[in-house]
Amino acid sequence: MLAFMTRFDVDLFVIGGGSGGVRAGRVAAEHGARVAIAEEDRWGGTCVIRGCVPKKLLVYASEVARTLEDARGNGWTIGETSHDWAALIAAKDREITRLSTAYRTRLEKAGCEVIDGRARLVDPHTIEVSGRRITAAHVLIATGGRARRPSEAWITSDEAFHLPALPKRIGVLGGGYIAVEFAHIFAGLGAAVTLVHRDKLVLRGFDPDVREAVTKGLTAAGVDVVHCTELSLHGREMRAAGRSIEVDLAMAAIGRDPSTRELGLEEVGVVLDARGAITVDEYSKTSVPHIHAVGDCTGRVALTPIAIREGHAVADTLFGGRPTPVHHHLIPTAVFAQPAASCIGMTEPAAVAAGHDVRIYRARFRPMRYALSGRDEQVLIKLVVDRASDKVLGLHIVGADGPEIVQAAAIAITMGATKADLDRTFALHPTTAEELVLLR
Ligand code: FAD
Ligand code: NDP
Repeated sequence: MLAFMTRFDVDLFVIGGGSGGVRAGRVAAEHGARVAIAEEDRWGGTCVIRGCVPKKLLVYASEVARTLEDARGNGWTIGETSHDWAALIAAKDREITRLSTAYRTRLEKAGCEVIDGRARLVDPHTIEVSGRRITAAHVLIATGGRARRPSEAWITSDEAFHLPALPKRIGVLGGGYIAVEFAHIFAGLGAAVTLVHRDKLVLRGFDPDVREAVTKGLTAAGVDVVHCTELSLHGREMRAAGRSIEVDLAMAAIGRDPSTRELGLEEVGVVLDARGAITVDEYSKTSVPHIHAVGDCTGRVALTPIAIREGHAVADTLFGGRPTPVHHHLIPTAVFAQPAASCIGMTEPAAVAAGHDVRIYRARFRPMRYALSGRDEQVLIKLVVDRASDKVLGLHIVGADGPEIVQAAAIAITMGATKADLDRTFALHPTTAEELVLLR
């Protein structure tokens, strides 16, 4: 099947060793393709090196503070506690190194040629990397994205993972995933955090009830949430909403841009949109038929499982004899706030805007976990149901176990679960998740 490609050095050249590129390269090699893959930084990409994984490790570490606070009500006497940020970062770095090595090894085991260095296209079928030129029948761009930075005075999440010590006062700009997650991480580990956002509620695009609960959760965690549209930073002074806020560190979390520059893409005819994202079809094919692109560089949905699914689909389409489109709906997602926000499907306003006559089911309750500690924190569970078909259109949870619940419920919702299906499901008592089948 691959015989027609033999005038090229490889069947597939992948640029970028992150979530999407690694999956595509490995699966293509397992299908029998000759694959080379280049990575200019560390193997594993954003998710493994400076994204999901180290972030979640820091979330776990930060959440210990809540457990300590709740301990007394449960009969524990906890003595003086302190946290060693440097020790946490060193432990995190050891785990990341282990994972990065595992990513590289898996590629090699699958038979991929693994190349360290920055790659770019010199013509539609030739890639230059580390002083070599390699020709390829197919090229996959999986170069990810990078954090936007207002100026050099600001750090981004990239540097936050390597701070030598935790600053006492931290200003965070933004109200999206990263701003919310890091505000909680820093606050839980003992910093005084001010989050400055250009809207009253964080997490634009999420369900309004979720936005309200997460904004309240930040305040409850001691984060000073400041709404302002004009912000300036002068040395250690942030000026926002008529206030002067002293900070030792300012971190911007205002979105990420696709990494598509200086790759030779436009020169070979690959079309980019106004934001610099690579334009692709449902098979991740660019405007040049033998060049595909997956993950954050395409500006579709910037989440790891999506980059992985897109990469896998490209390998199956090109080398597995199975043309596989990827449709981006019913994607579960979580913001690892404390407590976390998680959802799948439509928000209430989106469902109404799409013309659905909706029934809304909502429960707010204090979970049993906090019955003795007295923590004043509620779980929110919200279902958006289509009245005509009874189908569940959306599930939204704010609560500590929400991401685990949403991932499991996502199976049923993807299968087309109706509210009646939830109603006939037995509850598992006592859990937080049982509320999902008890909503009336
Ligand atoms: P990447 O993983 O970014 O990989 C691209 C790779 O290409 C990089 O390693 C880069 O060095 C390399 N590269 C770029 N240009 C070249 C070149 N010219 N030559 C060679 N190599 C090149 N998603 C979730 O689903 N859950 C989470 O909890 C989550 N948390 C996150 C937390 C943070 C702080 C951040 C920043 C992101 C988070 N994400 C999360 C998003 C997730 O990390 C990305 O969506 C995902 O990594 C995208 O994968 P990718 O393959 O498109 O790109
Ligand atoms: P987001 O797009 O989630 O949020 C960006 C935030 O910055 C928004 O609140 C936005 O405000 C604000 N903003 C944008 N531009 C400006 C500006 N010029 N001045 C002030 N505020 C501004 O981006 P993140 O950087 O938080 O994360 C990037 C992406 O990475 C996420 O969208 C997500 O796809 C992925 N990610 C996923 C995670 C997860 O799955 N848990 C965790 C971290 C990242 P407004 O709402 O008003 O536009």
